[in-house]
Amino acid sequence: MLRQINVIRTFVLYSILLHFIVGCKSVEPVIKLDTTPVIASMDLVNIIEDKVPVELKISNISTDTISYYLPKIVPGTYQNNDYGKYIEQFKAFDKEGNELKVEKLDNNRWKIGNSKSLNKITYLVNDTFDIEETHEVFSATGTNIAQNENFILNLYAFVGYFGNMKEKKYNLFIKHPIDLEASTSLTEYLPKEPLAGAIYDTDVFIFKRYADLADSPIMYSVPDRVTFTINDIEVLLSVYSPNKVHRAAQLMPQMERMIRAQKNFLGYIDTTKKYSVLLYLSSAKSNDAKGFGALEHNTSTVVVLPESIPLKLLNESLTDIVSHEFFHIVTPLNIHSEEIHHFDYNNAKMSKHLWLYEGTVEYFSLLFQINQALITKEEFFERILEKINNSKNFDDTLSFTEMSENILQEHYNENYANVYEKGALISMCIDIIMREKSSGAYGILDLVKGLSGRFGSETPFKDEELLGIIEEISFTEVTDFLNAHVVNNIPIDYGFYLKKVGLIYNTVEVPSGYFIYEQEPFIKGSEATKKVVFTEGVERSNFLRKAGIRKNDILLGINEKKYTIKNIYDLFSDSNKWNVGDDILFIIERNNQILRFNSKVITPTVEKIMLEENPNATSQQIDNLKSWVND
Ligand SMILES: [Zn+2]
Repeated sequence: MLRQINVIRTFVLYSILLHFIVGCKSVEPVIKLDTTPVIASMDLVNIIEDKVPVELKISNISTDTISYYLPKIVPGTYQNNDYGKYIEQFKAFDKEGNELKVEKLDNNRWKIGNSKSLNKITYLVNDTFDIEETHEVFSATGTNIAQNENFILNLYAFVGYFGNMKEKKYNLFIKHPIDLEASTSLTEYLPKEPLAGAIYDTDVFIFKRYADLADSPIMYSVPDRVTFTINDIEVLLSVYSPNKVHRAAQLMPQMERMIRAQKNFLGYIDTTKKYSVLLYLSSAKSNDAKGFGALEHNTSTVVVLPESIPLKLLNESLTDIVSHEFFHIVTPLNIHSEEIHHFDYNNAKMSKHLWLYEGTVEYFSLLFQINQALITKEEFFERILEKINNSKNFDDTLSFTEMSENILQEHYNENYANVYEKGALISMCIDIIMREKSSGAYGILDLVKGLSGRFGSETPFKDEELLGIIEEISFTEVTDFLNAHVVNNIPIDYGFYLKKVGLIYNTVEVPSGYFIYEQEPFIKGSEATKKVVFTEGVERSNFLRKAGIRKNDILLGINEKKYTIKNIYDLFSDSNKWNVGDDILFIIERNNQILRFNSKVITPTVEKIMLEENPNATSQQIDNLKSWVND
């Protein structure tokens, strides 16, 4: 970690400096602003039964009672995680050390009585990695406390806020074992020179407001890290591999190549000066993280992956995950709505524009690879087809803006992952429209840069006004498209857009098995009921569709034979003996009713989407394609 302020050596000096600054400021204004920070302290040395003691000091509360909150939800996640659930032994004290009355109002909120005399609160924080079976908190958004070994500090899970005082400054002191060092994009203030023989050190971080604290993860571990500079960005890669299977130095070449390509792709854009990749490799044992992936922050990302994967696969996973997270520095960092800018951690209002924040970023993480020649044109088309196929697993008639706004509700949340599939395809269509309209001069990257120049990290847009602004800086056709397929719920005809870049998008019938296509079976055994259940694959199979079978139907028997999980494999050998034209009777259970479907055996096929270059494409279509794939 960079220790940038090396001149000041002790906390005593630090407090003098702080008072000096406060003193200077308070001379001039008539109205005295409350500039006293919240002083938060975390103790990573004296862990109590796998829990970190936390203390927050605050003074000058003017109300009789005050609430203290841990976040229910944090930006970048689209579910309620209730970080307050991991807090124990919450206590409040006055200056004399007398305990004040505390009432727990819900999972994330404590009401403190007689708060005019409040001096500090204390509590213990439990971590999420080692109890993942008991909750839904995704690893990269959670916490790890492994004494003397590793700490993943998503700070919002440790430190909360008082009342509506989210704009208050925070000074955070972290006492940590001397061998474990902080990896973070934060600048550490006041490195205290450890005394000879000291077993711990204290790091100090200062935050302008709660949102900055919540957005700044830190990993403490025995350092294994590399830094490199790409144009004006300094990148830190810090790796925790419990069995030393993977090292930062081995992962650096690919990471550097990738981020360099991303920066080249972006061209000039005002972004962060520092970026940290904090990689936690999990043993994947019962008491370790099992949700693999990442959470983006404005200047860093926390990535959790299994330690057991081979280097090549780890590099590939990191390329996919980190390239996506890194592009988040463009949006939402530089382009976001008021809902995100003034994020309410306990009563979050969600923006309508997930298609922009997640969809565009996911599309960029594909597009930059072809733009910078990291993949071939064929591989690029393959990835697009994959997205189209995956998007079919979701509700295609759901308005994206409606889903985005209501993403915390169950029906909408079920479709959330479509922001990485259809969300990316929405951006692809906009890209193609813009290239067609501008004869290849502009694409969606230019639109995004335009928005970033207009707004930037400090100026949010109003959710309702975004489409109007997009029309101003791009083309009417782009807003027409957004209105039809993102605000309204008309499914997208991908063939129509892909034709503009000289591609033929075709659905063809290809041979399959009766109950399987390639590696994808259309049936599965249910462990709970021991019955055979049809999967969503039946919708692709012309044979099963024509027989009247639907997803989630339970297969009881065919002709005279009964099937259960025990003889499920007989289905494949039995059906091999069928002949086209044979009569066939399916006995099905659907909604607790027994149904009988009489049908005839036909040649089984599935629909497969193909994407090919049209040999008869017009010169304009060819030019559009060249501009799209940077050929
Ligand atoms: Zn994302």
